[in-house]
Amino acid sequence: VPTLRDLGEIEVLRRLTADRSPAAGVALGPGDDAAVLDPSPGTELVATTDAFVEGAHYLPAWSAPERTGARLATANLSDLAAMAATPRWALLSIGARPESEVDALLALQRGAEDRLARFGAVVVGGNLTSVSGAEWASLTLLGEVPAGRYWTRSGARPGDLLAITGSPGRAGAGLALARRLEAGARSPEWQALLDAWLEPEPRLDLALDLASTGAVKAAMDVSDGVAQDLARLCEASGVGAEIATGEWPDDSELARASHSLGVPLEALRLGPSDDYELVLAVDPKRRAACEDVAARHGVALGFVGRFIEESGLSVRLAGGEVRALRPKGYDAFEGEG
Ligand SMILES: [Mg+2]
Repeated sequence: VPTLRDLGEIEVLRRLTADRSPAAGVALGPGDDAAVLDPSPGTELVATTDAFVEGAHYLPAWSAPERTGARLATANLSDLAAMAATPRWALLSIGARPESEVDALLALQRGAEDRLARFGAVVVGGNLTSVSGAEWASLTLLGEVPAGRYWTRSGARPGDLLAITGSPGRAGAGLALARRLEAGARSPEWQALLDAWLEPEPRLDLALDLASTGAVKAAMDVSDGVAQDLARLCEASGVGAEIATGEWPDDSELARASHSLGVPLEALRLGPSDDYELVLAVDPKRRAACEDVAARHGVALGFVGRFIEESGLSVRLAGGEVRALRPKGYDAFEGEG
């Protein structure tokens, strides 16, 4: 099994770019000093980037390279979903140790490329560099949105409905359960939650169709946890939010994990978790249009609270009692807390 050192940079780059075929919107692809792109008329470009570092954002014992590549693509695709943008072009940079296997590198790239391709985007370039410590991969993704039609975090107003896709908290629960298992162990009992952590899907198709309803006034994807990400959206919009726990969608897997981990269900739902679900502020008059779109996509869309004038987050318990909520989520520099 050849390593990067065995083959050398030129041969590894040749293999990485071997079967790139011409793609729409690419005037000049990989192989020159830079790619030349051809955006659609009447659109604005939307750009995002995300880096995964070995040991911090992915655990090799749990995630084969192909899966890690797919998840890195999902993290970026999810950001474009939160902007209601259509993904087009990506740049992939990798820092790898010389003793790593070339096949692992190719698999990581393939995982990213396949996931991007499903949503219409192609890798048009990148960079390969040698590291001695933790390996990493960084993806930059460009997308398009009809001019002026992008979503932001800042459009929520008091009275708007708070909606979430799927069942946030599952990825964080999966990670917490994985920590109890032997590295890479199979656990049919917890497979659904482990998959939510290891194989998240971006809500792109849903986002693009929701955008066409005109009902969404602000959006953000859940990459650190609902409480933390919702707090950021509220701050950007200059509003607060009240979460109604009684209206949260039932999730028997999450309830079972809550019991097994000894962690309150609310803490799993709202705490640190990179689910890549969407948090949305919805015009109350257009709730039904959003529900129709979500049903068509087979994605759960829960209306779990509302935006209010008073800043901060609060939780309305099933009995009616309202409690302040301190945002907890994943902070890259503090860890969880
Ligand atoms: Mg984001």
